[in-house]
Amino acid sequence: MDCSKIKELLLTDYLDRQADVRLRIQVQKHLGACAECRRFEEEVRMAAVSPFKNAAKPEAPESVWINIKDNIARSESRKLSLLDVITEKLKVFSLPRPAFALASTTLVFLIIFAAITKHSADKNQIREYFAQQIDFYAILSNGEDNGYQNHTPDPGVYIEKYLF
Ligand SMILES: [Zn+2]
Repeated sequence: MDCSKIKELLLTDYLDRQADVRLRIQVQKHLGACAECRRFEEEVRMAAVSPFKNAAKPEAPESVWINIKDNIARSESRKLSLLDVITEKLKVFSLPRPAFALASTTLVFLIIFAAITKHSADKNQIREYFAQQIDFYAILSNGEDNGYQNHTPDPGVYIEKYLF
């Protein structure tokens, strides 16, 4: 193998460690015997390989990292606010109309009961009133089964019926 072929190899495969073992041995044997090619190999190594040995690892600018951090934070908060919206919606639906009607009816009864206890001395009447209230609530909560669909009994009429 002549010097030009060795130099060609030195410029291509040899330094890249792509040459097969047999070829590498041939090149090394030639370099051991040929000072000119040895010098050439040294020059090529210095010019092509060394600069990268001490090259600094490429660093991404600080702004890139800040950008990534911001985007992650933004997508996290978006997820959180979506969850809040869903939770709010569930809260609204978890209080169906019948429950709301029952709650307001209970308030009406409490007000009437306060008025009755203030004026009435008849404990039996009060006890009876409570019994009727319990029946009334049973009807309310089972309204759909007792033919009370879409019809809330007027509490005033109901009390009048049993108290007077
Ligand atoms: Zn040579």
